[in-house]
This record gives sequence, structure tokens and C-alpha cells, in this order.
Amino acid sequence: MAVAGETEGSVDYDKIMGMYGQYVMNTYNRLPVVFVRGQGVELWDAHGKRYLDFLAGLAVNGLGHCHPAVVNAIREQVGILMHTSNLYYTEPQARLAKMLVEWSEMDKVFFCNSGAEANEAAIKLARKWGKSKGSGAKFEIVTARDSFHGRTMGSITATAQPKYQQAFEPLVPGFQYVAFNDIAELQNAVSDATCAVLLEPIQGESGVHPATKDYLSAARKLCDAVGALLMFDEVQTGLGRTGKMFAYEHFGVVPDVMTLAKTLGGGFPIGACLARGRAAEVFQPGDHAATFGGNPLACAAAIAAMTTLHEEALVENARDIGEYFAGKLRAFKKQREDVTEVRGIGLMLAIGFSAPVAKTIVGQCLELGLLANATDDRTIRFLPPLVVTRKQVDEAMGILAEAAAAL
Ligand code: PLP
Repeated sequence: MAVAGETEGSVDYDKIMGMYGQYVMNTYNRLPVVFVRGQGVELWDAHGKRYLDFLAGLAVNGLGHCHPAVVNAIREQVGILMHTSNLYYTEPQARLAKMLVEWSEMDKVFFCNSGAEANEAAIKLARKWGKSKGSGAKFEIVTARDSFHGRTMGSITATAQPKYQQAFEPLVPGFQYVAFNDIAELQNAVSDATCAVLLEPIQGESGVHPATKDYLSAARKLCDAVGALLMFDEVQTGLGRTGKMFAYEHFGVVPDVMTLAKTLGGGFPIGACLARGRAAEVFQPGDHAATFGGNPLACAAAIAAMTTLHEEALVENARDIGEYFAGKLRAFKKQREDVTEVRGIGLMLAIGFSAPVAKTIVGQCLELGLLANATDDRTIRFLPPLVVTRKQVDEAMGILAEAAAAL
């Protein structure tokens, strides 16, 4: 572990930001902080200032920063075997696939390196599924407005938000967009030409909007009626974040295909596309691949992360602390007229404001030592690590109240 004094003292803020300006492509609006160390729910910046991380690297650090189980697994594996290629077999990939299949209702897994890649795999799987139906015209993929599925050309086409798409048109053909939670629109959109419906059970990036049970049940029935695949993007919601292992469990609707990433590697990059039944047999050799996908190092990290989720009862913790946190946010809403809504399930929560104050409050929270995220001008999203405690929620609420009071 980095020693605070050594690492933090040696970092020159202005120099690092200058180097980003000169050498790193300008794809992010970064906040002015240089992080050097993390442990559990806490992060430290280059000045030695401590922060509570209620964003968890955008839902990646589900186990908190540097969980010893993940650190040790990586340390051990890195000295044994990092990479071979998918031309051969390795034990960690087999063990991780078995674990994910046993924990879900899925039958088989394809491994890749990120959420977007997992969704690309799902999109290709759906297209080949449609082709296998023989008509040649079963290629449409239906997705919901305000969804987020990633930034590759396929996944950005699935992401029905013009602000992310316009600069990159023409998009991938064959996608149709519907209003989220609108059953009638979905009914109109799904036809014999549909090969898949791809949905987030809870839309995350656009501000934490849960699907209704009726909507997902209707999607299931419509897909069954036309022989299309129901695909859930659980990249953000999966693996305990919502207080269940997979968000689909809240709704009693099981998809044919499910994508995962973020929490899966406990901080290490890995993604997965899972499928069940006949959908799990669609891909054949040569159909899809990822050079790094399922490499022993990523899989060892993920096995440790998944084992820890189970051993430390973190899914249950997400449910308990999520309820506690949501209660505190509702109390905050009662105290403030400008808070319009508290949304979310488990540790995937957001508050809505009547005025465009979210970015100002998030900036003020950062000043005061709390990381959260403004998904738009009026919404603050919280995605703390699943190891978060009541005490840390209390501390975060104190900071949020102070930041909002300073408006
Ligand atoms: N799908 C969902 C639901 C996401 O929230 C994200 C990222 O925020 C992605 C896909 C894309 O994942 P990645 O950034 O790992 O490609």
C-alpha cells in the first residue's frame, strides 16, 4: 500500500493537470482533484485530504477500494499467469463462469473487458439469433429512451440519447427507440422483425429511474410472443448494487441475456455477457472474441470479488444500508422544499431538485470531502461501495446538508 506521506507529498497538482491537458484526449469534464490512494469507502487526494467515496468509481468499487481479498488475489495471480489467449483454456475463467452461472439463472458466459463490450456481445448475439430464425428480416433491436449502454458504435446506437449519438452518425441500422416504462409504445414497437429488446432494469446514467414490474413483465411476454430475446443490461445494477444479486430479481422477470461489468472485478476491468437456454448456444467459434477477455488476472480478481460479496454478505448490506440511506434522503427532502424526489433501490439512489443546483452541490460536496455525481442539472446520484456503514452514511448526509445549505 502506498504510504500516505510519501505518495501524497510527492504529487504536484498543477503539473499533473497540465500533463492531462497536453497528453490526454479531452473526453471528460474532470473535477479538480488528483487521487492517490483509496481504502474501503475512503479516498485521499494528493494533498492528503480525505474523501468519502459515494460514487465508487461509477459503481465499480463495489467492495470499496483495495479490498484485501481482491488485492491478494491479483498479487498471487500476477506472478503465476496473466494472459495466454482464448486459443487455450485457463482455470480462473472456468471457475468464474461456473460461479456466475450458479448464482444467476443464466447457462453460459462470454467474457470481455467492459460494459460496452458486454453489450456489443449481446447485440451481436441478438442479431445472430434473429438470423437463425430464417426469415432474414428479424434484426431490429428495441431499446429505451434515456438508456445508457456504452460508447462503442453498437452500444451507443442502443443508448437512446441523441446527445451521445449525433456527432457519430450514421449509427448502426436496425434500432428502434421507445419511451421507458410505456407498455403501449413497446407493444407498437415489438414485431416479428424484432430480434431483441434491451433494457436496464433501473436506468442509471440518466438519473436512477427504476422500471415498473408491469413494464418488464410486458417486455417478457412481448419477446416470447415474437421469438425475440429479452436482454437486461445489468452492468450498473448487477452484483448486489440494488440489494439483490441481480436487479431482475426485484421484478420477477428473468431475461434471456444479461450483461455485467463494473463491480464484477472488484475494481479490475472485466465484463461479461451471459445467456440462457437456446440463447446460450448462439455463438459458435469465430462469431465473437476479445483478446483480453476472461484473462486469468481479471478472472482471479473477479473470483475474489464475487467470493467476498458472498462471504461478507454485501448484497444484504446493500439492502439494509440502502434502506437506511434512502430514509435519510427522504428526511432531507422533508427539510428542503427544493428536493422533489428520492429515487432508487438498494445503494443505487438519486435525489431530484426543482432548480438546476445539482452540479453546484456536487462541487461543494467535493470541497467538503464527499464524492457524488450530478447526472444532470437537477439530479444527484449516489452509488457508494456495498461495504458502506450507517456511520459513513450519517457523515455523508452531514456533508450533503452542509453543501446544500451553502447554496
Ligand atoms: N451499461 C450501463 C447500464 C452502464 O451504466 C454503463 C456505464 O456507465 C455501461 C453500460 C458502459 O460500461 P463501460 O463504461 O464499462 O463500457
